[in-house]
Amino acid sequence: MAELKEQESADARGLNFVEQEVLADLQAGKNGARLSTRFPPEPNGYLHIGHAKAFCMDFGIAEKFGGTCNLRFDDTNPVKEDVEYVDAIREDIHWLGFDWGDREYYASDYFPQLFDLACRLIKEGKAYVDDQTSEQIAAQKGTPTEPGQASPYRDRTPEENLDLFLRMNAGEFEEGSRVLRAKIDMASDNMHFRDPIMYRIIKHPHHRTGTKWKVYPMYDFAHGQSDYFEGVTHSICTLEFVPHRPLYDYFVDELADETYRPRQIEFNRLNLTYTVMSKRKLLTLVKEGLVAGWDDPRMPTISAMRRRGYTPQSIKNFVDLIGYTKYEALNSVSLLEHAVRDDLNRIATRVMGVINPVKVVIDNYPADRVETVTMENNPEQPDSGVHEMPFSRELYIEREDFMENPPKKFFRLAPGSEVRLKGAYIIKCENVVKDADGNITEIHCTYDPDTLSGMPGANRKVKGTLHWVSAAHAVDAEARLYDRLFAVENPAAEPDRDFREMLNPDSLVVRQIKVEPFVAANARQGEKFQFQRIGYFTPDYDSTPEHLVFNRTIGLRDSWEKEQKKS
Ligand code: ATP
Ligand code: MG
Repeated sequence: MAELKEQESADARGLNFVEQEVLADLQAGKNGARLSTRFPPEPNGYLHIGHAKAFCMDFGIAEKFGGTCNLRFDDTNPVKEDVEYVDAIREDIHWLGFDWGDREYYASDYFPQLFDLACRLIKEGKAYVDDQTSEQIAAQKGTPTEPGQASPYRDRTPEENLDLFLRMNAGEFEEGSRVLRAKIDMASDNMHFRDPIMYRIIKHPHHRTGTKWKVYPMYDFAHGQSDYFEGVTHSICTLEFVPHRPLYDYFVDELADETYRPRQIEFNRLNLTYTVMSKRKLLTLVKEGLVAGWDDPRMPTISAMRRRGYTPQSIKNFVDLIGYTKYEALNSVSLLEHAVRDDLNRIATRVMGVINPVKVVIDNYPADRVETVTMENNPEQPDSGVHEMPFSRELYIEREDFMENPPKKFFRLAPGSEVRLKGAYIIKCENVVKDADGNITEIHCTYDPDTLSGMPGANRKVKGTLHWVSAAHAVDAEARLYDRLFAVENPAAEPDRDFREMLNPDSLVVRQIKVEPFVAANARQGEKFQFQRIGYFTPDYDSTPEHLVFNRTIGLRDSWEKEQKKS
C-alpha cells in the first residue's frame, strides 16, 4: 500500500490540478475511496468544443482512476429544452469515445425529492414564498459592498409559506408572480447567499414530465442535490461557479452526513479566438439561417466538426494541449486547427483534386494514349499501399499554378518554364490559348518522355512540382471551402457590437472541382483525403455518387507555429 501510494504521488507530477485533488481524496479514503463524476448538459442546444473540454475531464478522470461518470441531463427549464438536443448530445459524447453505460439520468427525475426537500426547508423556516417580481427582488439584492434589503414577505410563517408553495405548484398563480427563496442572509458578503431563488413558476410543458409540475428548481437548488441523489463524489465544473460553491455546500449540508458528500471543483472554460461559444448566440445563428444548422461545418459544435472532417482524436489531443487551469484564458483556434492537421496528416489518403481547374494540353503526347502512374496512399503509413492514376494528353492543373508574366521566384508553370507533374512527367509550357475576354482556356505544353519513374531522366530536377488530374478521367465534384465563421478575433470582447455583424462574409466558398477517379470511387462518409498541396477533405453528408460534395476540413498551411514564433 505504501509502495502504491509512492507510485501514485510520483504520477501526480504529471497530473493536472483537478486530478491531483481527486487523487488526494481517493488516497484519504473519502466517500469510501469511491470516484463518481457526472457530465451535466442542459438539453437546450448542441454540444460545442467547450463542452468537449468539460466531458473529456468528467469521463477521462473517471477512466483514469477507476471511477464512473454519469450523463445527467440538466433539464430544469422546460421552455428551452427539446429531445432533439438529448439525442444529439448522446451521439456526440459517444463519437468522442466515452460511454456512461446505464447511468443516464435527468435532473427532472429528482423533481419529487427536490420538492420534498423544499417543503422540509419551508417547515424548518429556511425558505419562504416571495410575492415580489424578479425586478423588485433584484433591486433589493444590494451590491458586493452594501447589504441587501429584506423582502416584506421574508417573515411569513412556515404554514403560510407551505400553503402558498403548494398552490404555486398546483397552478393557481401566474408565472413571475411568486418565487420560493431560501432564507439565508441578506447581508452576506457572497451575493449568492442573499436569499437565492429556489423555485419559479413555469407553465410550459416539460419534455419528460409533461404538465405534472408548475414550479421548477433553479440551478443552485438542483445541482448539488442531484449530485447527492446520484452518489456523485466530484462535481467538476467551470470557474464561473466558484462563487456558487458555498451555496452548493450549504444545500448539500441539508442532506449529507459524514459518510458521503459530493464536492465541487472548478477549472477554466474554453474560449476560442474567432469563435462564439454561447449557446444562445449559436441558436440565433441557426434560427436566423445565418448558418445551415447546428452541424453547419463552420459551427464550433461537435456535430459540425464531425461533419467537417475533424477526428475525435484531434479534438482530444487539442484538449490535452490546452490543459486545465484555474485561470480564464483565450485559446487560439490555430492550435485546434494544428491538432486537426496533425491527426489528418497521420491518417488521410493522399490524392489529387484540382479546385480551380485550367486545362493543360500536351501537344507531343499521343491523343489516344493513356498511361497509369502509381501514387503512394500515405507516406506516414508504410503499409497503406498505393493506387493508380490515369495520365493522358489533356489534364487539369490549378489556375494559380500558372502565370503568364511570373515574378522572379515563381517556380510553377510559366511560358518557357518546366515543372514536374507529381508522379509523372516533366512538362514545359509552350503557349496559351485565350477566350475573347482574355481568360486563359488552355495551356499548351510539351512533355519530356524520358522523365517518368524508372526512366533515365526520372530524377531530373526542376524547381516546381504540381498536382494534376487527367481531363478525360477526372470526376466533377463540389467543394465547400470553409474559413473561420467570425472575422473578429474575440467576438465576446465586443459587447457593443451585434455579433452577427462580426461574421466573416467569406466563411464559405463553393467551387466546382475535378478529382481523380480513385477519390470518386472511395468517397464514402467518414473517409479522409489529403488533396495534395491543397488541404484535407471529406465527403459531406450531402454527397451522392451522382453529385459528389466535399468539405474542406482544413487547409495545409499551419498558422500555429507562426503564431508561436511571434509571441
Ligand atoms: P448555458 O448557458 O445554456 O448553461 P452552458 O454552455 O453552460 O450553457 P451546459 O449544458 O449547462 O451549457 O454545460 C454543461 C457543462 O459544460 C457544464 O458543466 C459547463 O460548465 C460545461 N461547459 C460549458 N461551456 C464550456 C466551455 N466553454 N468550456 C468548458 N466547459 C464548458
Ligand atoms: Mg450551464
